[in-house]
Amino acid sequence: MKKRITGALCALILILAVILSSCAGTEPRSASFQSMDTLMSVKVYGGDSDLCDRLQRRIDSLDAQLNATDENSDVYQLNQNGKADVSGDTADILTRALRLSKELDPAFDITVYPAVKAWGFCSGDYRVPDDDELKKLAAKIDDTAVKTDKNTFTLPEGVMIDLGAIAKGYAADQCDAILKEGHAAAAVLNLGGTIKLYGKKPDGKLFSVGVADPDNPAGYFGYLSCEGGVMATSGGYERFFDLDGKRYIHILDPATAAPVENGVRSVTILCDDGSAADALSTALFVMGLDKATAYYQIHPDFDFIILTDNDELYITEGIMDDFTLSDGYDFTIKSVEIATAQTDTSR
Ligand code: ADP
Ligand code: MG
Repeated sequence: MKKRITGALCALILILAVILSSCAGTEPRSASFQSMDTLMSVKVYGGDSDLCDRLQRRIDSLDAQLNATDENSDVYQLNQNGKADVSGDTADILTRALRLSKELDPAFDITVYPAVKAWGFCSGDYRVPDDDELKKLAAKIDDTAVKTDKNTFTLPEGVMIDLGAIAKGYAADQCDAILKEGHAAAAVLNLGGTIKLYGKKPDGKLFSVGVADPDNPAGYFGYLSCEGGVMATSGGYERFFDLDGKRYIHILDPATAAPVENGVRSVTILCDDGSAADALSTALFVMGLDKATAYYQIHPDFDFIILTDNDELYITEGIMDDFTLSDGYDFTIKSVEIATAQTDTSR
């Protein structure tokens, strides 16, 4: 009898030990912090115990190099002096941004900075420049004029750069390397609305990521199940001002130097490459629905969700079955299919 009780006790202890050890293995570490002018949060499953700290330090270091309003940053020095020897990180992101800009011309252009400043989006002193000023500003938006010689970058007179449309996506790519080095099993990084999904969750389930409602950014109009990649969203709701009954948003059309007004409310991109996801979300917002769809037909190596002003939701076929509309939203869902056999996935 005693033997049977001891045996049962041992079995119970063994089961408890297994449950406890598996709990410890599946419990993620997490951290929240302010960086790149936004609130970020990271959640890491498994791997080295200091991974959250390492992720934060890497993002903070990128912010210190890239923030156009920080006097010590490479980007500030380049904008101020028209020429600068920059760090390896800054040179790398600038090179990527210029390459993406060529591909996304004329919707994406990192030399929009003087226009972003003129509208007051950097200082918060919002104003509406007149037509004459806008023409002058638009004439200076041209990132083909940025000259590169290894890590030395040169800007023509009056040209300034802003990496705000790509920095969080680039940071997501840099975090990928840290998660690999630190042997993380899985991670969900929310870098101010740019979401990086890494590895496989311990419960084996796919990641379910909310897509922000532009009318109520704390809520989600839908959820996307994803295996991995980076999800970037651009919308007027991130930064804007209202004047005399009109809304002015922080995403500018490089052709006019003015805020975009084309019937698009938000663009969400899912792509393996974070820099591309971030640049594409801004660029497709500028392009508008028709041009964005035409671009996707030629480069279908990403997926998108585009919400329009008339409550239509356009979703590419690659993620159509993975999207669930939240209760209470009455959007008309339309599938965007790849129509041509002629595609270019060279990115
Ligand atoms: P957020 O950074 O708010 O998530 P985006 O990725 O769309 O949103 O980036 C918008 C920022 O990029 C703007 O605040 C501005 O600094 C810059 N920007 C605005 N329009 C453009 C454009 N057409 N091309 C490149 N950068 C832009
Ligand atoms: Mg962007």
